[in-house]
Amino acid sequence: MNETQSQTKTRNQTVLISGGSVAGPTLAYWLHHHGFTPTVVERAPRLRDGGYAVDFRGEALDVLDRMGLLEGIRALDTEMGDAALVDAEGRQYATLPAAVFAGDLEVLKGDLTRMLYEATREDVEYVFGDSIASLEQDEDGVLVSFEHGAPRRFDLVVGADGLHSRTRALAFGPEDEFIRHLGIYTAIFNLDNYLGLKNTGHLYAAPGKAANVFTARDNTEARAAFHFAADHLEYDRRDPASHRRIVAERFAGEGWEVPRLLKEMDTAQEFFFDSNAQVEMDTYSAGRIVLLGDAGYCAGPTSGRGTSQALIGAYVLAGELATRDGDHTAAFAAYEQQMRPYVAEHQALGREGAERFFMPAPTQEILDMLAANAPGNTRTEPVRLPDYIPAAAA
Ligand SMILES: Cc1cc2nc3c(=O)[nH]c(=O)nc-3n(C[C@H](O)[C@H](O)[C@H](O)COP(=O)(O)OP(=O)(O)OC[C@H]3O[C@@H](n4cnc5c(N)ncnc54)[C@H](O)[C@@H]3O)c2cc1C
Repeated sequence: MNETQSQTKTRNQTVLISGGSVAGPTLAYWLHHHGFTPTVVERAPRLRDGGYAVDFRGEALDVLDRMGLLEGIRALDTEMGDAALVDAEGRQYATLPAAVFAGDLEVLKGDLTRMLYEATREDVEYVFGDSIASLEQDEDGVLVSFEHGAPRRFDLVVGADGLHSRTRALAFGPEDEFIRHLGIYTAIFNLDNYLGLKNTGHLYAAPGKAANVFTARDNTEARAAFHFAADHLEYDRRDPASHRRIVAERFAGEGWEVPRLLKEMDTAQEFFFDSNAQVEMDTYSAGRIVLLGDAGYCAGPTSGRGTSQALIGAYVLAGELATRDGDHTAAFAAYEQQMRPYVAEHQALGREGAERFFMPAPTQEILDMLAANAPGNTRTEPVRLPDYIPAAAA
């Protein structure tokens, strides 16, 4: 990336990015490209491999292409075929076309994160196993204290730390002011491909509940998911044992492979549980602090657009800073103006997706509705991706 890096000096040179998943490393790439000095702090002690599958739509592929990563990402495509809807006895009663759930391209989230990390690690400082603890901004910058490391000053701080963003909590307020629960909880975990599936998935649905298994990594592994409808539940977000108990209670007595999957869940090494939710903010920035990706405008898993938003948001934010010579006030406003209509459409998709999520036995009409949201037929307006030229080089 050094060949194309702009040799410009800007205002607001140093940028701390909280979160090293999708939005964070992408922003680090583009900030470095434009001549800034980003640092990424990631709470996890190391890169998270594997994870669930995420897909990309439209211009997000363009961002990856401009980073020179598209071919590499294509090589990691899960190549998922159509999936089978099955009843309690495991009999297939309908087919769900891959185009509905796998986007233009689908990869495991951990594979994407690793690729973004590898593309930036030589040029960007990464700090793993730490988190912002406090933020104190003044006219010239932000004093940041960390849970473990020594305090440091940065010119700007970006919260790319996901749905439960610490940056957002510190700069804007408690998360229940901004998170809108979509009425669905999801658990995802890894397991052996014991069903012997080949590039496909099986989906089972009961009223207010759904479970599925999809293959991963050339059919050597699988990922299973449980989804259930519920209003806001109280639980400790840092206690996976209680999450497993909640899921087991909800799915007790269900048919298909559910009893076996519940056992697999108990011993799974990778386990994720969270509410499906959106983030709604009146503004994405507060002074020198700005939010990016799920932290600022999560559209929810049912939108299928979160990864695309993270990639595009990072590209636009870095580009606006560069063309405005680091003037954060003007750049943050321009970034927000560009992102808002795009985010609004995705959030609408996320809400609609959540409303029709639980389908005991989907009719052709419902499957057609799902197909209408497939990438080639999306109603989402394309976002404009300018070729940003840093002010000093223009
Ligand atoms: C079940 C599920 C399925 C999904 N499927 C799709 C899909 O098919 N297509 C799609 O486009 N999107 C999908 N998404 C959404 C997608 O995963 C997110 O929109 C995307 O990952 C957002 O990227 P991000 O970098 O903004 O946030 P995240 O990926 O959430 O990353 C946040 C990062 O910040 C780190 N972090 C958290 N707190 C701190 C802290 N205090 N300090 C430092 N670091 C911190 C986290 O460890 C993490 O690495 C799905 C999401 C879920 C939950």
